[in-house]
Amino acid sequence: GKADIECEMLVLGAGPGGYTAAFRAADLGMDTVLVERYPDLGGVCLNVGCIPSKALLHAAGVIGEAAHASEFGVDFGEPKIDLDRLRAYKDKVVGQLTKGLAGMSKQRKVRVVTGTGRFVSAHELEVQGEDGSKLVRFEQCIIAAGSQAVKLPGFPWDDPRVMDSTDALELAEVPKKLLVVGGGIIGLEMATVYRALGSDVTVVEFMDQLIPGADRDLVKPLADRLKKQGVTVHLKVKAAKVEAQKKGLKVAFEPADEGGNAPDAGVFDRVLVAVGRAPNGGKLDAEKAGVEVTDRGFIPVDRQMRTTAGHIFAIGDLVGQPMLAHKATHEGKLAAEVAAGQKREWVARVIPSVAYTDPEIAWVGLSEGEAREKGLKVGVGKFPWAASGRAIGIARTEGFTKLVFDEETGRVLGGGIVGVHAGELISEVALAIEMGAEAADIGHTIHPHPTLGESVAMAAEAYEGTITDLY
Ligand code: FAD
Repeated sequence: GKADIECEMLVLGAGPGGYTAAFRAADLGMDTVLVERYPDLGGVCLNVGCIPSKALLHAAGVIGEAAHASEFGVDFGEPKIDLDRLRAYKDKVVGQLTKGLAGMSKQRKVRVVTGTGRFVSAHELEVQGEDGSKLVRFEQCIIAAGSQAVKLPGFPWDDPRVMDSTDALELAEVPKKLLVVGGGIIGLEMATVYRALGSDVTVVEFMDQLIPGADRDLVKPLADRLKKQGVTVHLKVKAAKVEAQKKGLKVAFEPADEGGNAPDAGVFDRVLVAVGRAPNGGKLDAEKAGVEVTDRGFIPVDRQMRTTAGHIFAIGDLVGQPMLAHKATHEGKLAAEVAAGQKREWVARVIPSVAYTDPEIAWVGLSEGEAREKGLKVGVGKFPWAASGRAIGIARTEGFTKLVFDEETGRVLGGGIVGVHAGELISEVALAIEMGAEAADIGHTIHPHPTLGESVAMAAEAYEGTITDLY
């Protein structure tokens, strides 16, 4: 057919991967169209992911800190929470960022087309919008259609008391009793928010530890603190059945393993299901453009983010794990630069992960266990925050910083940090790995005192055996 819109670069999906790719493509001189089904740009991350969750976690953190302050003689009393104003704050944060994106698109002359896209051929996408359908013809394309929450089958999803993370972020109410199904990052972040707001929270996790992707020792201080805050955690347990009753949701549990234990059925006011995310690759008719999609909906790509169709790239959550915003933006830039003719490919060694819980958990590169499994000669440097003057001063000594080294090369292979602000601290370890740093490079770098960041240098010095035990 005749195209309504023609462009050099079409980007499908305006999440962090897509908008980054579109902006980079435009900056490199390509005539760019950005297709997004929702009126607001920003995707999951800005609208219903990273950003609103962190805004609410900030409120939770303030509530926690205020309670904690009694330890040094400052009493605030019980917090009074105005849910409408808290929700408005979160919405304002999101709105400020999505509006910013709309402005940046305009500035770069990226044409935004609102509607749901499906491929009809190797160079054509049909966009179904409120005002009918448009055919967009493109020379090259970057698919960035992201992912969505997995909905456990058999749960009464038409009942608003059964929530996914998007529903939970809406903050409709503070349930008296909340069940969180899934003890991964998203589940625990939301558990942290609702606990701080006053919910009685229970978490069930199928695996034998919380945040199954992280090292066990890193998770322990978080598990201890959750327990202290009164959050009930059941490991190796699954929520087997949810029955909507008038007085609440009746949930039956089963042990993950035969012969294991599970708690008795319970009644909850709300249930949040956070058991993972599924890629949107299977909903785009991508095969019509010659793009291979796996049975699970992932789109395989090479080191330049090219799909099986050479002129079509894919990035972000729908190309695979880890499903993280900073991975999506990195890939978005890369794909746009390759499309513009630059000689680029994936060279990053590591992608950091952060759980913005209280305490935070952050890790990057190989964990100690992974390094050993690879058969490497592993050395570990660990610095307990109980020896950090700063951590003592803020009365948060439960954290520690750990670095993993390759004994043969002396280089850092990975690192993990648990403690307040761990997410802010992990970037140094990522940089060290990218730069091929050795323990001395980190240990001999002068870090400001007294900071939590010093703990990274101390962990390196602990490995070298030169630690000075300095508070
Ligand atoms: P998405 O953000 O999923 O964007 C895809 C876009 O494509 C969407 O806007 C969608 O509407 C659009 N789209 C899909 N199909 C079509 C179509 N056919 N036509 C038109 N448009 C379409 N990551 C972090 O790094 N840090 C965090 O703190 C963090 N917190 C999170 C908290 C929560 C509660 C959740 C759910 C996720 C969180 N994530 C976090 C993950 C992060 O949100 C994702 O990794 C990131 O959004 C992926 O970006 P993306 O560009 O691949 O896709």
